[in-house]
Amino acid sequence: MKDKIEQIKMEFEEKIKGKSLKEIKELETYFIGRKGKVTELFKMLKTLPKMQRREFGAEINELKQFIEKNISEQVATLERKEKIRKLKEESIDVTLPGIKLHTGNLHILSQTILEVEKIFLSMGFDVMVGPEIEKDYYNFEALNIPEFHPARDMQDTFYLAKKILLRTQTSPIQIHAMEKYKPPIRIIAVGRCYRRDAVDSSHFPIFHQVEGLVVDRKVTFANLKGTLAEFTREMFGKDVKVRFTPSYFPFVEPGAETSITCVLCGGKGCPVCKYTGWLEMGGSGMVHPNVLRGVGIDPEVYQGFAFGWGIERIAMIKYRIPDIRMFYQNDLRFLKQFKG
Ligand SMILES: [Zn+2]
Repeated sequence: MKDKIEQIKMEFEEKIKGKSLKEIKELETYFIGRKGKVTELFKMLKTLPKMQRREFGAEINELKQFIEKNISEQVATLERKEKIRKLKEESIDVTLPGIKLHTGNLHILSQTILEVEKIFLSMGFDVMVGPEIEKDYYNFEALNIPEFHPARDMQDTFYLAKKILLRTQTSPIQIHAMEKYKPPIRIIAVGRCYRRDAVDSSHFPIFHQVEGLVVDRKVTFANLKGTLAEFTREMFGKDVKVRFTPSYFPFVEPGAETSITCVLCGGKGCPVCKYTGWLEMGGSGMVHPNVLRGVGIDPEVYQGFAFGWGIERIAMIKYRIPDIRMFYQNDLRFLKQFKG
């Protein structure tokens, strides 16, 4: 009996080495389960004389406790190791670079509009808005373009109803401004305009203009030139100059087409400026006396200058965008380049 107890003890000590949690559970059954080796020893006790029963009974109990203790210790050790392993595996490495979140940005036209407004605000202009749906009167008549005037052909118009149209220019805002305020007036207005133009790399049926209007006593062409020269320097750089060439617009007299130094070649001549060294920006001039009279301002007392430049044109030149259609295609690859 003594040998058997000793033998089982040795067997257990041998078997428990390097066992996994699952294997230990099996060992537990194998030794002290209902049909386990130690349980068998207790059964054998019954066949022994009374004296030996007590002696070996104590020893078998001791063996059983030894096995139970060893098993529970081993299980605790393995469970602790497993916990540490899991913690290590699942812990967050705060030194790893984070996941980049994609944030949106303003459309490049919106950014350009904000920049234009900022420059004119710094020069003392107020920003005005006007309706995109206009009466014929504001878009044409009040701007010295009566019905059947050939200048109407210059602007193919979307009519919504008789005498109601989508404005073809921001100039009607001049009339609203002069109806609303008395001189001195110094405003810019940025807005969407619509023309029935065929779409190509420089024409789109929707586009934006920035309109400028100053009305005061003793306003001269020099003030117009100074204002646009300052804006040009702020927008495109200090070396970029403005040039005025005589032109006809019904609502100004004299009228001038404005151009700036080609920013691509610096004025030397390149395919973009058609080797002229200049880029056309838009119309300008001194407000026509008829326009002033129409809103009740005496042209003998007050003078004004006005200009209208294209926002798309400004953005295309500043950011070297070759095709106006890119603004309206909503291609993220294009739009993402202009994160401010
Ligand atoms: Zn050029």
